[in-house]
Amino acid sequence: MAGAGKGDLSLVALTKTFATFTAVHPLDLTIEQGSFFALLGPSGCGKTTTLRMIAGLEEPTAGRITIGDEDITDTKAYQRNVNTVFQSYALFPHMSVIDNVMFGLKRRGDKNAKAKAHEILELVQLDQVATKRPTQLSGGMQQRVALARALVNRPDVLLLDEPLGALDLKLRRQMQIELKRIQQEVGLTFIHVTHDQEEAMTMADRIAVMNAGRLEQLGDPATLYEQPHSTFVANFLGQSNLLRAQVGAGASDGIVTVRAHGADLEVSREHLPDGASEVWLGVRPEKLRLGESGGPNRLHGLVRDVSFTGVATQYIVEMPWGQELTVVQQNDGSARPNLGENVTVSWAAQHGFALDASQDAEA
Ligand code: ATP
Repeated sequence: MAGAGKGDLSLVALTKTFATFTAVHPLDLTIEQGSFFALLGPSGCGKTTTLRMIAGLEEPTAGRITIGDEDITDTKAYQRNVNTVFQSYALFPHMSVIDNVMFGLKRRGDKNAKAKAHEILELVQLDQVATKRPTQLSGGMQQRVALARALVNRPDVLLLDEPLGALDLKLRRQMQIELKRIQQEVGLTFIHVTHDQEEAMTMADRIAVMNAGRLEQLGDPATLYEQPHSTFVANFLGQSNLLRAQVGAGASDGIVTVRAHGADLEVSREHLPDGASEVWLGVRPEKLRLGESGGPNRLHGLVRDVSFTGVATQYIVEMPWGQELTVVQQNDGSARPNLGENVTVSWAAQHGFALDASQDAEA
């Protein structure tokens, strides 16, 4: 494929229709070899169907799937060099950990099955429990056995379908870091399906945000978070504080003035969609400051809620027109406003992003 690297995975107009319902609209995506890629979106957006088409478990209605120069669209699932780790670990309970891991290799008559299995168990830090049964291990360890089994024959692509969904929050956070480390060590392409935006942002080099069977936006975590292209992406990746605003004529030094609820506010020209006259001006909670020090953009409101969360405090500030803004401030020892206090919320022009409101009447 033109533009695709040696082992890149490409989806070309990949489509899936079930009877009359299109679960995945023509999807074009190139996933770089050796990268950690996330398919992110709410339940029912088509992420699992996309993953199942890559795995060969679901037949596409139209479109192609290639790895490097090889077209695998019509290749049987077991003949693809693609493995999947599911949320349910699907381990054989009567076999030891090492037997689980080398099962596939032995079936194919690989003479080095045992050595390869030990090597991969070391990578996932489970070599010391190689002779135990999966049922004797914790959920997190079982998940790592499933991962080792999927990695042992070094697939071109490893698919992870909500693999951490069954783990409790703390273990989930540990496994996110662990999975990222393992991916970096093995250097294989990982494609991770999740509806958890924090998980996708923690782990992935690049994220495809999906909505209702379509790709909404593709990018690295920071770009998606700081410069979303739609209210859907803005809201799905976190709190956005979207203000309805009209684009004014005044502009200087790459700054454009917009008018929101009677206030003149500044936004970087590069963050403003071309030709838009009505916009949603968004600012992430941690980019807002309480007080005058945050920048030239200032709004005044009333503190409606204060929630201490350890490293930071979250404030809900009600604006005179009834909208509530969320402000997150690090607990760095500076003075904290109290409930019911009148405050100024301020921010810098470059910390805002603007979305064309002609497409999204509601935020
Ligand atoms: P979840 O996180 O809930 O699994 P998802 O984003 O992975 O969601 P999919 O499982 O890909 O979504 O499903 C996308 C849509 O396709 C859903 O509306 C689902 O009901 C529908 N769908 C999936 N499989 C089938 C099927 N075999 N027959 C009919 N509809 C299906």
